[in-house]
Amino acid sequence: MEKRINVTRSSMPELEEYIEELKPVWESRWLSNRGAASIKFEDMLRSYLGVEEVYCFANGHVALEVAINSLFFPSGSEVITTPYTHCSTTHAIVRNGLKPVFVDVEPNTLTIDPELVEQAITPKTVAIVATHVYGFPCQVERLQEIANVHHLTLIYDAAHAFGVRVNGVGIGNYGDLSMFSTHATKVFHTIEGGIVTYKSCDLKRFDPLDKLVNFGFSSPEDIDYVGTNARMNEFEAVMGIVNLRHIDEEIARRKIAAERYWERLENIQGIVLPRPSVDIQWNYAYFPVLFDGYALDRNGIQNLLATHQIYARKYFFPVTNEAKCYADTYGDVDVPIARSAAQKVLTLPMYADLGVDDVDRICDIILSAEKG
Ligand SMILES: *Cc1c(COP(=O)(O)O)cnc(C)c1O
Repeated sequence: MEKRINVTRSSMPELEEYIEELKPVWESRWLSNRGAASIKFEDMLRSYLGVEEVYCFANGHVALEVAINSLFFPSGSEVITTPYTHCSTTHAIVRNGLKPVFVDVEPNTLTIDPELVEQAITPKTVAIVATHVYGFPCQVERLQEIANVHHLTLIYDAAHAFGVRVNGVGIGNYGDLSMFSTHATKVFHTIEGGIVTYKSCDLKRFDPLDKLVNFGFSSPEDIDYVGTNARMNEFEAVMGIVNLRHIDEEIARRKIAAERYWERLENIQGIVLPRPSVDIQWNYAYFPVLFDGYALDRNGIQNLLATHQIYARKYFFPVTNEAKCYADTYGDVDVPIARSAAQKVLTLPMYADLGVDDVDRICDIILSAEKG
């Protein structure tokens, strides 16, 4: 029986380290509602991400949904966004009563194309919601320019981008606001969780954020907003504190696996390896591969790997505008690059415990298709 390899595997700290950090929470009986562990975790995050303000949430999706909610855009306003992302990005826009305007992505990084963003702006446009897909940064400078000229709010779905730096600057510093997911399957996790980052000069603007997360309470007797419950709990914050101590090692181990994939799969006819641009400190969040004219197509490779107990994922497929819940309204928007990538992409297994021998086994199977 061959060893089963899934597309991802959560990193776990030593149980003793987690328990040690958990003890004060256990004794205090303060289990949620931003206790001492959450406050400590947020301090650590500010420092690690190099950002001014952070706020923790129950998960990445609600963090993004509440962040958009906190801006109180008029219902029906247009938000320019990418279809090459998790459905969460699109849902967060639509569930706020806003209209997603999909534009295509760039072929190399599969992030939103700034020139198409500019062309899609109308008098009803209020915001851009872009995704740093696979942790590959969007063209942050260019998007900021466009946002400034047209007075648009620039929000990043940075769910994949924890720890990424552009020219040495933490990615959370770009745009008005960024959301990081800390779900169990991400590079850095708190079991379930999400983090929002923004700048101190916007504290007043985002003031509703930390009330919306807790039913809209601004004090025990004042309910200022129609809020929700999107709180991170203290057990999750403790997981974050402990995992953050090991994040650099986590990323370094992923890098070894990624470099082996590159070594084995580079310059193979029909295999395209998207990469972040050069001035980036990447986090090796995923390993996307496009099968484009290779001996087997994407689905063929996925099936072949599965016969060997290796489970790669079509991530992202479908493009979100073609998801069943959006297809009637947005199914025929013109996003040829995103749609083509969604047909060809497979993300190969990628996690810190993935050994070079595992990568070799995966690559041997993929390359065996070439020999027929
Ligand atoms: C994972 C993910 C989300 C949602 O985050 P959760 O923490 O799972 O709610 C949103 N956007 C993208 C791009 C993601 O990959």
